[in-house]
Order: sequence, then C-alpha cells, then structure tokens
Amino acid sequence: MQFRIKKRDGPGRIGEFTIDKKPVVTPNIFSINTKRFKAPSFADVTLSNKDDLTKSDHLFVIKNALQLFQRSKNFVEFIVEIKESIGYDKAVYLPAAGEPVNFALLTYMGIDLFDSTSAIMSARDGKLFFSDGKIDKNDLKELPCNCPSCNKFKGKPSEMKFDNILNHNYYIILNEIKNVRNAISNGRLRGLVEARVQNDPHLISILRTLDRGYNSYLEKQTPVTSSSTLFATSKETFNRPEIKRFQDRVIHRYRKPKSTKMLLLLPCSAKKPYSFSQSHKLFLEKINSSGNPSVIHEVIITSPIGLVPRELELVYPASNYDIPVTGVWDEDEKKMIRNLLKDYLKVNKYDKIISHLPEEIMSFTKDILKDAVKTCIDKTTSKKSLDNLSKNLNRIVKEYEKVKYQERKVEDILGLASYQFDEKLAEKILENSNIKGKYPYQKIISNGKQLGMIVKERGLISLTLDGAKRIKDSKKYWIEIHDDFLLKGSVFAPGLKDCDKEIRVGDEVIVLRNKELVGVGVAMMNGEEMKKANYGEAVKIRHHI
Ligand SMILES: [Zn+2]
Repeated sequence: MQFRIKKRDGPGRIGEFTIDKKPVVTPNIFSINTKRFKAPSFADVTLSNKDDLTKSDHLFVIKNALQLFQRSKNFVEFIVEIKESIGYDKAVYLPAAGEPVNFALLTYMGIDLFDSTSAIMSARDGKLFFSDGKIDKNDLKELPCNCPSCNKFKGKPSEMKFDNILNHNYYIILNEIKNVRNAISNGRLRGLVEARVQNDPHLISILRTLDRGYNSYLEKQTPVTSSSTLFATSKETFNRPEIKRFQDRVIHRYRKPKSTKMLLLLPCSAKKPYSFSQSHKLFLEKINSSGNPSVIHEVIITSPIGLVPRELELVYPASNYDIPVTGVWDEDEKKMIRNLLKDYLKVNKYDKIISHLPEEIMSFTKDILKDAVKTCIDKTTSKKSLDNLSKNLNRIVKEYEKVKYQERKVEDILGLASYQFDEKLAEKILENSNIKGKYPYQKIISNGKQLGMIVKERGLISLTLDGAKRIKDSKKYWIEIHDDFLLKGSVFAPGLKDCDKEIRVGDEVIVLRNKELVGVGVAMMNGEEMKKANYGEAVKIRHHI
C-alpha cells in the first residue's frame, strides 16, 4: 500500500493509495463494518479490523486522540508535532474524532483519514449530522435533507430510528468529505475551514491556536500562487498564512523603487487587480498627467492584506481577494494597518507623502501621516478630490528631477523580484535589463535576450534559461538532479539529489546538474517535501537544455 499525494493546499492534500487492489482517494472515511454496524454500500473503504492497517508502512494511526481533541492547545501541538516528525509521505488516520463539521479543519491540519465512529455514536444519541453541526431529531420540525433515508420520514423526523439516522449520517459524512476534496482541488480548503468552524467555538479555538502558534507549519505548506479568490469573511481570514507571508515579505524583502521620491497612498478597489478598476483608472490618469509620473510611488492601503505597492498588485493574494465593504474599520484592522505602515516607512524613505485616502482611514493613521499632504476632500473619486489630487501632484513633482519611464519600469520589476526571490537575486536578474510589453504582461530583456516575463494569471516572474543562469550560483530556489536523470517535462522526487528547503509550492525553481544549469520550472511540492519524498512530481519544467 503506497500513498501518493496528488494535490496540496496548505497541510491538506489529496492523496491516493491502494487497499485490496482498489484505489482509495484521501481525504476519506473508513466505514466501520462489523456485525452490529454494517458499512453503507456506497462506502469507499471499509474497516473491519484496525490491526490490518497498522501493518502498512504508509499509514500512521493516531491513537487515543479523542480526549486530546477536547483540549485545543494540546491537540494542535500534538498533531503538528506528529506531522513534523513523520514527514509528508504517510497518510495520517485519526480515529473517532472526525465529524462533518470538523473534516475541513482536521484535513487542513494534515489528517488524511477518518472513520464512521462519530456517525454511529451520534445516531445512537438520536442526532443527525449536517455539514455545519448536528441536530437532535426531536429539534427538527422539518427534515432539511433529501437523502434516501430521510425521504421516508418527511414531516416526522422524530420517528427516525437508529438505523435510519445512521444511514443519513453516512450520506452526510461522505458528502462532506467530497466537499473537502473539491475544496483542495480548487485551492479553497482554508475558505471552507473558515466557513465550517463559524458556529463552533471549540473548532475556532483550534484554528486560532494553529494560526497563532504554528504559522510556519502552515506557511511552508501554503502555495505562493493561487487562482482562487480569497474571501475575507471572518476574523480568521486575517491570520491566513498567505496574508501573513505577503505582509512579512513587503516589510522584509521588498524595497521601494529607488528613484521615487513621493509616496502616494491610495484606497483599494473592489475589482482586482486594482489598476483595472474605474477608481484606479482615474487615479492613474491624474498621476500620468502630472508631468513626472515616475517619481510617484503608489501604495494601496487595504484590508485584510495591509499595504500593497502597485508593483505587487498582481501577486496572490493581493491579486484576488474580496472583503465586505462597510467603510468601518475594526480595531484589529486598524492595528494591523498602523503597524505595517510604521514598519514600511522605517525601511522605505520618501521626501513627500501624499494621502489620497478617505477620512475613515485617515482618522486612525493621522499621527503616522502627520506630514502628509491630504488630497481627498470628500469621496476619493469625486471631481473635487481628483482635481485636488491632480493640483498637488502637478505642483510637487516639479520639485524633482524627471525620472525616466524605462528606469522606473526596471525598478518596479526589481521590487517584484525582491518580493519573489530576495533583493540580491532580484538585482542579478534585473542587471542591465529593460522592460518591454503592455502591462500586465511584461518581459525582462537584456542584450536582445528574454530573461523572464510576468503573466497576470501567475503574478510572479517566470524565468527563461537566460534568466535562470543569472541566479544559478546564488544557492536559493535551486534543486540539484542526479547525473543520470534525463530532464524532460518534470523532475520527479527520485531524480532529485538535493534542494533549497525554503522552496514553496508555486515558486520559480532553478534546476542544476553538477552545479550547471539544465532547466527552470515551477515547484509542485515544497523544498522540505522534495528532500524527503521518494515519489511524485517535484518540479514542472518550463525550459530545459
Ligand atoms: Zn438525510
């Protein structure tokens, strides 16, 4: 029984293994099958004897975790510790604790297999499972379910017997596990977790403990790119690892374009990327007609992402998130923006700050932006405010020497490359380069050779072999393959000799053989997993020699 991982989304993954020559997809549920409790006919995998399982090298069974599950702090610590010590290539089975409301969360923590114990226990108590919790049959005036079992009891849920409820519970657990698998496939597992835990304080405490205490465990397993929209619908969204990573890199990796002297702070827009929105088109029009647009650096202030320099607007999650707009900022959001703004201004120095922010943001950043020129009069997009923005930009840009468009374009991509790789690598990639192409599709060109390009869908720099050559000795974002490994469409884990363990899923990766560049591609697993894995696609190759 070998366990193969097909898709990753945070510590959650879709895997596959074979039991009795039958392929089983994970996450999944072992349906308990005994004389008293017959597994449903639609079960993917049944379990008659737990001892059968422990024989497998590829399955790790967490024993006696049900009691621990009640104590969120200890439970999270325990699960993360186990996951860190057993590595990536074992399927983890958590007996008894799983039920529909927590499948998403437990999968997100790294559990692959559950069982039907809770379905049986709940049926015994007369409780029906639903994806967001369980309800006593006597509390159901109507049956909100059309499964074959419930269909027989329309209007009379209280008459359901143990077997009827159990059968219903089986339908619900298998439905929810499919929801979880779909969410992983679409890169939306975290969103599903946040939706499911909403009504359950205990599950929220588990998620908060995980977010606050084990960010690095989550972050290293969270892809750097995604095509799914991040919905900021709960307090937990603010602690999502991809948001924390974005904020951290803006402060610690990213640097503002060197030739810019004026910082222009702007509000976000509902449409993403921002520059495609009506409001930002208006702002850009005023900037471009100022007489010296390249001296102005735009930074967007937004929740839950924080600060987004214009050059990073295509980067996930800034490129694709949605938050309910009320115009009211809560205390946590204010604190987050204030801290980021202070940290950002410590490392990125400007001569002048222009704030075209609405009063609701200015009200809590006044002290930090006390020297800023305020250009918003009423609404940020009103004629009055836009004229005022234009007037001030036109006046202030004159104080500075004209910054060349091409010079600034290079600095913008340098900022993006610093965010993606780091400042040193960024400088190597952009040395003596020009930027060509119509935004957002941009190419890095040097001596007539293309080094890389930015595509809107990915938001990061995709390197060519010439681009990769420039950072091949930097000891970052690299993998080394075995001498005899034939490089074609992918590098599979067995062909990999060594790699940078800081690589994340979705990262650009340099492929070396005997220290010589042989290819470049995108990471399909993180560096830590690549190092340990014995199978699976580690890097999808874009170009090779
Ligand atoms: Zn039902």
